[in-house]
Amino acid sequence: MEHKAMMLPNPPTPNRAIAFDERFCTGCNLCVEICRSDVLMPNPQPKQPPIVLYPDECWYCGCCVEECHHPGAITLLHPLNQSLPVIWQDVETGEVYRLGMRTPPPPNTRPPAG
Ligand code: SF4
Ligand code: SF4
Repeated sequence: MEHKAMMLPNPPTPNRAIAFDERFCTGCNLCVEICRSDVLMPNPQPKQPPIVLYPDECWYCGCCVEECHHPGAITLLHPLNQSLPVIWQDVETGEVYRLGMRTPPPPNTRPPAG
């Protein structure tokens, strides 16, 4: 082949999913190998943090973080609606509550169709 091609991170997504800290990451790619969704790819530059290629495919399973032997090298970035510290406060009553329905409906007890 005359031309070489390379993969690049997916720019349209607002979701980052994974963050690397190059101060601690050795570029060993253990996190890349453990990911069953192929979210990550090795960096073409040796000893550099992997590239988050398909952040929207991340399941937030945490396997990549568990596999890493270098604390602080890799961090999960949960989507905003899954981040527990996000709270809301009623401006009139001062009541503090988390995201979600304040008075959720009862569970669906109807049996599945078919
Ligand atoms: S984040 Fe950890 S497992 Fe992944 S390449 Fe860097 S040092 Fe290796
Ligand atoms: S959290 Fe799971 S799915 Fe997401 S990049 Fe890490 S190993 Fe892959």
